[in-house]
Amino acid sequence: MKALCWYGRHDVRVEKVPDPSILNPRDAIVRVTSTAICGSDLHLYGGFQPGMAPGDILGHEFMGEVVETGPAVRNLRRGDRVVVPFTISCGACHPCSKGEFSLCDNSNPNADAVEKLFGYGGAGLFGYSHLYGGYAGGQAEYVRVPFADVGPFKVPGHLSDEQVLFLTDILPTGYMAAENCGIKPGEVVAVWGCGPVGLLAVKCAYLLGAGRVIAIDRVEERLRLAREECNAETINFLESDVYDTLREMTGGRGPSACIDAVGLEAHGTGSVGAVYDKAKGMMMLATDRLTALRQALVSCGKGGTVSIPGVYGGLLDKVPLGAAFAKGLTLRMGQTHVHRYLPLLLEHIDQGRIDPTFVISHRLPLDDAPRGYATFLEKAEGCTKIVMNPTVH
Ligand SMILES: [Zn+2]
Ligand SMILES: [Zn+2]
Repeated sequence: MKALCWYGRHDVRVEKVPDPSILNPRDAIVRVTSTAICGSDLHLYGGFQPGMAPGDILGHEFMGEVVETGPAVRNLRRGDRVVVPFTISCGACHPCSKGEFSLCDNSNPNADAVEKLFGYGGAGLFGYSHLYGGYAGGQAEYVRVPFADVGPFKVPGHLSDEQVLFLTDILPTGYMAAENCGIKPGEVVAVWGCGPVGLLAVKCAYLLGAGRVIAIDRVEERLRLAREECNAETINFLESDVYDTLREMTGGRGPSACIDAVGLEAHGTGSVGAVYDKAKGMMMLATDRLTALRQALVSCGKGGTVSIPGVYGGLLDKVPLGAAFAKGLTLRMGQTHVHRYLPLLLEHIDQGRIDPTFVISHRLPLDDAPRGYATFLEKAEGCTKIVMNPTVH
């Protein structure tokens, strides 16, 4: 089959690789009909993620048709159309049984490596390095889905691939980010980052009762999407001071909740912190670039919540924890429990309460994936989200 393989920083190639096969009784093989490139794939593309090996198949946002099932998979049949959560979960361990699917104890065979860094490890992920299990991803013609009796969700035929594809990651991620804010009716929520997760977090914040949502970015096209598609008020951080503007817009109180949908590749604007992060990054010292998180912690109103769906992986320097303490903030974060939210969000899509297709800017065949990654990295051509169809050549 054809698959998109990682070879190093800014080097991905579509290659012929062996077809996947059933390895365990609970596996299924899915023929991929749609797959998307995620902002977090750019962390791999940029070489920020440790544990990658040349030839690894990328992609954790994919859906398709079941073509084969292991003997223990009784909920799926050949021909079923499914979306597959990017987190791999056994469904039965201690975290899974509490609905904390992204913290699964059983799906990451390399959890001991993560434990050395973080104390305890979470779930395995599709196409996201050997630290997260070394599973082949779904930017491919076929993919092996472990724990297929738990993961894949069937989707009704009247919904298009594009309507349901983002149930695999970015829609549940935006929803959990908003839910973690504990929004009370009418509250003001600020969202850093108008990439797809940030935009969907804006929509979900309204769905959960926010009165006003203020979106922050530097790319004018993305700010336009936030205003026109998501009803957000916007701040361009290249033009205005974010803290001052948020304070002014909220009668001096600050937002009740702040969502950092940027993560470790935040672009700063000349603050001492931003320059320091970049310098340390270039020296390959462990750090994240966390301008957005710093701003969120300082800008959030007293007693508020800072919710962090953006991906962080390393040790954070210069985190204003004092601001969080002084204001009694609640911090919520973590990998999305996709399995928990997927049925509810599928229902929202089916009932027309949310339509995530507006984030798509590019549709490409899988063969053009290398060009897609380069375009997405540069945010060229108004690129917000790329969907690829491996069945088209
Ligand atoms: Zn993703
Ligand atoms: Zn589990």
